[in-house]
Amino acid sequence: MNGNGLAGTTLRINLATGEIKRQRTDVEFMRQWFGGRGAIAKIIYDEVPRDADPLGPENVFIMSAGVMSGCFIPAGSKVSFGSVSPLSNGHGDSNMGGHLGPTLKFAGYDIVIFKGISPKPVYLYIDDDIVELRDASKYWGIGSLECEKMLKHDLGEDFEIATIGPAGENLIRFSCITHDFGRQAGRCGQGAVMGSKKLKAIAVRGTGSIKVHDLKKLTEQVSAIIQRTKVHPNMAPWQKYGTAFFIDWSNENGVFPTRNFQTTYFENTSGINGDKLVEKCLITHKACFGCWMNCGKYTKAILPGKQPVYLEGPEYETGALCGSNLGMTDINQVAYMNWLLDNQGMDTMSGGGVIAFGMECFQRGLITKDQLEGHTLNWGSVEDAEHFVDMMVHRRGIGAWFAEGTKRAAEKIGQGSEKFAMQVKGQEMS
Ligand code: SF4
Repeated sequence: MNGNGLAGTTLRINLATGEIKRQRTDVEFMRQWFGGRGAIAKIIYDEVPRDADPLGPENVFIMSAGVMSGCFIPAGSKVSFGSVSPLSNGHGDSNMGGHLGPTLKFAGYDIVIFKGISPKPVYLYIDDDIVELRDASKYWGIGSLECEKMLKHDLGEDFEIATIGPAGENLIRFSCITHDFGRQAGRCGQGAVMGSKKLKAIAVRGTGSIKVHDLKKLTEQVSAIIQRTKVHPNMAPWQKYGTAFFIDWSNENGVFPTRNFQTTYFENTSGINGDKLVEKCLITHKACFGCWMNCGKYTKAILPGKQPVYLEGPEYETGALCGSNLGMTDINQVAYMNWLLDNQGMDTMSGGGVIAFGMECFQRGLITKDQLEGHTLNWGSVEDAEHFVDMMVHRRGIGAWFAEGTKRAAEKIGQGSEKFAMQVKGQEMS
């Protein structure tokens, strides 16, 4: 046996004291729980007290690469983040592609477990054997995409970065974690948990390698997967459009969320579908580590009166939740909303759901222009949505209600609004 696909070390970091401990990754544990979200679920179950505050010191925050991560298996190089979710108060995890998971393993680590709350903003710095908590006050308050750029400038292009934005810092419950200028661990409020721990970012450089049990057999299996998937009829559109490929299908089948799910058919999909994405926004295709499918779309959004912005996406879920669900009819509007929420550090699914809930409240007269600082909140308006996002991120006025997610906002608004707060166990529907 040459190896088992593991990097070998688990890090335990106490953010309150700054103590960093290394321990051997438990091979039997990984066999049973597979790393990634399996390992996260077990650690949460074992280590977090039942009534722990998700945004308090007793919650854990875990980053865990999967067993396949870094092994050149297509779509196999994800990294998961997990904790008790501030949206549901139950188990929460979310994963992202990109390059962070493999790089973490190349640096020698399978899992990083954070506990406690740092007295000041910090980021985790990993450069192979060097593991440090570093001062992040310079980066605090900076947007996710800008912060990633700053950290790469300061540390080196070969560092892989995960960061939160102002939303995570301000404990907006549906905050996300961003990596690779557009890959998000979006769901379950993991960015808010990072923010609660004053952990602004994680920066990793890894120059090692991973040993697998049987390299020849693994290579044969990977080649077989590639050959099989290459000829699949869905592969060409998958590569051309990414998940935006599903927009027309979803609409034709009557399951496309529209105007806060008031209907499930959108009359303007031709303005926001995969064809429009490629025609109006696409700059180039992008892939995660070791994946030949390059379904990621590096794009730009151009709207009158605004600077062009650059992003990855929109993917299907963002096209739905920040597109039809907000009544946006132009792909540039959807891409701009995608960039806005990415940079502020909000999950585009929950974020789109919360904005849509606000728009329906405004449509029904349950919230007023006075409460919106003199603004409207109309379907299809990027300006209205952008102002509303700013109110939420900075918790101004009723923005603070919506920053808690649709379920908690509906409890504040009352007047029957809970009937159209589209959430399950506190998390917005996707
Ligand atoms: S490029 Fe696309 S298919 Fe490949 S791992 Fe990344 S998200 Fe998955």
